[in-house]
Parts: sequence; structure tokens; C-alpha cells
Amino acid sequence: MAEQTPYDVVIIGGGPGGYNAAIRAGQLGLKVACVDKRGVLGGTCLNVGCMPSKALLHASELYASAAGPEFAHLGIEVAPKLNLPQMMKQKDESVAALTKGVEFLLKKNKADYVKGAGRIAEPGKVEVTGENGAVTTLETKNIVIATGSEPTPLPGVTVDQKRIVDSTGALSLPEVPKSMLIIGAGIIGLELGSVWRRLGAEVTVIEFLDRITPGMDEETAKTFQRSLTKQGFKFRLGSKVTGAKAGKSGVELTVEPVKGGEAETLTGDYVLVAIGRRPYTEGLGLESVGVTPDKRGMIETDHFKTSAPGVWAIGDCIEGPMLAHKAEEDAVACIELIAGKAGHVVYNLVPSVVYTAPEVAWVGKTEEELKAAGAQYKAGKFPFTANSRARINHETEGFVKVLADAKTDAILGVHLIGPQVSEMIGEYCVAMAFTAASEDIARTCHPHPTRSEALRQAAMGVEGWTMQA
Ligand SMILES: Cc1cc2nc3c(=O)[nH]c(=O)nc-3n(C[C@H](O)[C@H](O)[C@H](O)COP(=O)(O)OP(=O)(O)OC[C@H]3O[C@@H](n4cnc5c(N)ncnc54)[C@H](O)[C@@H]3O)c2cc1C
Repeated sequence: MAEQTPYDVVIIGGGPGGYNAAIRAGQLGLKVACVDKRGVLGGTCLNVGCMPSKALLHASELYASAAGPEFAHLGIEVAPKLNLPQMMKQKDESVAALTKGVEFLLKKNKADYVKGAGRIAEPGKVEVTGENGAVTTLETKNIVIATGSEPTPLPGVTVDQKRIVDSTGALSLPEVPKSMLIIGAGIIGLELGSVWRRLGAEVTVIEFLDRITPGMDEETAKTFQRSLTKQGFKFRLGSKVTGAKAGKSGVELTVEPVKGGEAETLTGDYVLVAIGRRPYTEGLGLESVGVTPDKRGMIETDHFKTSAPGVWAIGDCIEGPMLAHKAEEDAVACIELIAGKAGHVVYNLVPSVVYTAPEVAWVGKTEEELKAAGAQYKAGKFPFTANSRARINHETEGFVKVLADAKTDAILGVHLIGPQVSEMIGEYCVAMAFTAASEDIARTCHPHPTRSEALRQAAMGVEGWTMQA
């Protein structure tokens, strides 16, 4: 048999890191293969993460609007009936279409898709074990590890995906819980909590810290918590879960105040464990190339290079925010470096979004970070109550906050909470990528009437000339 030419790059993992790396490698004329063991491409994001959660957030938001006072106030009188199996079916169909789309993109860019579990056998060799157990060896000049992450387990609370679920289980519950206990007030817990709350569940969130959504600007987080509380969320902050007992029809959780005090028992139909995610590198054969993950399980890299020559790593399994668009940034930069180009990621410009209602979106530094760094900054703030489009649509919760350097006026951080702000944060990402001053936004014409006018009015506020509030 004729010997195969080795690959330029073999990527292990077909999530947003891996598949975008494969596409970019194909575009740059590299011979590339993407190995994934899930059976479908798209990784966590498409299969059990970003996309199915957004499908349920969209559907449940419409349901809540129709079932609550919102539609009636608009003069639309309906009595919606929930068809949960159909809601799940449309989610699954959209996910299937998206994963097929990724397969098409790989083909279009001449990237081979190899189904199976990849293991680094030695430098330049990846062994792939297919579903039928057959092993093939791929020879390659470069290996890119893009194996992603998995939910972090909580000692004493065993996920059975029946009564005690992780995010994957919470995306496919067979019924609307009467009561749901969520461990962890991070983005994933609050998004999935929103889905089930809107469909009728009593939701209680138990959080170790004395605040929700760590990493979010504190003022924004407080506004966000108030809004969720208005929607019926209950919060137990500063509380730790020490044990769980799952029965046929529910779960008992033992909860203790972090600062000491009486333990108590909370009961719920279902428990969602959402305390974070950890890198996933099981069975990858890292030892064969002498790479040891750090104590959090992350692969240490320098510009995506691991300590082993020709072995690179990107996405959730390396340092940085565990986000799909960050994995995509890593992917492009890593492949461009492999191709001899200049690849670079500015992590300060990776935005974060919570897709609840109201949505929360931010980029750059929080006020707390600026204060801790002793930075001199000015803030401009504009509430959606003063934005005409938000007002006319009865979506007035939230604000835009722009933080800019007191001397140079360079934009340092932007924090949005309000209607569909996920679609608005990109403007500030672009502005900051071009090292814009807040005045650049303040003096740029924005269309009327749009919510985006709030972005401009807040920027005007940095110099104290907000006009519409
Ligand atoms: C519920 C939920 C909601 C989320 N929502 C968002 C959101 O709205 N926006 C956002 O940006 N991010 C979101 N995320 C995070 C996002 O999904 C991840 O940041 C992203 O998927 C990371 O991409 P990745 O390519 O690094 O890894 P992954 O997407 O985890 O992909 C890794 C792939 O590698 C495969 N693999 C692992 N080991 C091997 C092996 N040895 N051989 C072959 N294949 C292997 C896995 O099967 C997997 O398919 C969400 C996550 C969850 C759980």
C-alpha cells in the first residue's frame, strides 16, 4: 500500500475550537484532519451547550410573554398551552441541522473529519479508535488539542441525570419541575434556571459566594439579581451544599451557611449542579509527549504551544474564559501561527453574555477591576427607561455603563443589562479593538429609534453631556 503523506495538522476535538481550527487550516491550504468521538461535530457548544440552551431560552421566553401579562398589555389575548415534547423536538432538530452544517463546512474546506477517540501515541502520531474498536494511526507534523471541558462535579452530590442533573440533563428534562434547586449562580445555572422558571418551576439558587455571577461588574450583577428575583427566583447566597439524597420523586439537599450556623434541608423535584466546568483531557495520552496539566486540569501553553514540540492546545482546555467565541479566536490564531503567520488573541476583548431576560453583556474591565488596579476612570451611564425604543416596547429594565480612561478617554470597559444587549456589545468590541475613545461613540450617529442609541447616550455621559436623560 502506498504510504500516506502525513497531515500538517491533526486536531483532536470537533467543538468551536476544533472545527474552526479545521476550517482555517483548510482555507490556508494545510492538510488537516479533525478527530471527534461524540459521533457528531460541534462539541459541547452545538450539542449540549450554547445552542440547545438558546433554543430553550427563546421558546420559553415567548411562552412566558404569552402566558404572563406582557401579551395582554399589548392587546393580544391568548391562553398558551405548553407542549414540552415539541419544544424539545424543535431544539433537537435545530441542533442536528447545525451539526450537519459544520460537517459541510469541513468538507467545503477539504478538512477530513475522522470519527473516533483520539489519543496521542507519540510525537507526530495520533491513534484513533473508531466506534467499532478499529484503530487507525494518523501521522502529522502538528497536533492541536481541542478537547474542551466537562461539568465540574460537586463532592457529595452525585449526578444521576434523573433527579440530580448537570447542564446536559437540564436541557432535556422530561417534565416541568414543580421545584428546582440550582447549585451555583453562574451563567449556566441562571440561564437554565430561567428556562424552567418561565415554564412554571419554583427555582431556588444556592450559591457559595455572597453574590451572583462572579466576574460580572458588581452594580450590574445587583441589578440582574433584582430582576431575577422579580421573576420569582429565590436566592440562597453565602450557602454551601454539603450533601444530597435523591429519591424516586425528588431530592433532599443539605445546605449550610458558609459563615457558620445551622444546617438545613431543602427539597426539590430536581437539582441542577452548575458550579462550573473543568478542562477535559481524559484518555488523551498527554503523558506520551510529557505534557502534564496543571492542578486545575488545564494544559499550560505559550501562544498555544504546549511544552511538547509540535503539540498545541486551544479552547476550554487552556487558560481563559470558557466560551465558544474564545475557543474560535484561539483556533484562528493557533492555526495561523502553525502556518507561519502572526496569530494573536486579545483576551480583554472577549465579550461575555448572559442570555436571560433582561440580557447581560460586557467587555473589558469591571469597575472593581479598575479600582483594584488604581486606574483613573470616568463612567457614563444611561438607563433604558430613557430610551424611546425600549420604552415603546415596554422593555425598560437595565442600563448601559461605559468606563473610560480619565486622561486619554480610551474605552476600558462596557457593561450592558437590558433588552437584547447580546446583539449590541459587538459595537463596543469593535470600538475597543480600534482603541476608540468614548467620544468616538458619543459623536457617531446611531439610528433612531433603536436601543443602540443608549450606547451613544452612555458614551456622552463620560464627558457629562448625555442629552436624553
Ligand atoms: C449549557 C451550556 C451553555 C453554554 N452557553 C454558551 C454560550 O451561550 N456562549 C458561549 O460562548 N459559550 C457557551 N458555553 C460554553 C461553550 O460550550 C464552550 O466554551 C465551547 O464549547 C468550548 O469549545 P471547545 O472547542 O474548546 O470544546 P468543546 O465544545 O467541549 O468540544 C470538545 C470536543 O472534543 C471531543 N473530544 C474530547 N476528547 C476527545 C478525544 N480524546 N478524541 C476525540 N474527541 C474528543 C468532545 O467529544 C467534544 O466534542 C456553554 C456551555 C454549556 C455547558
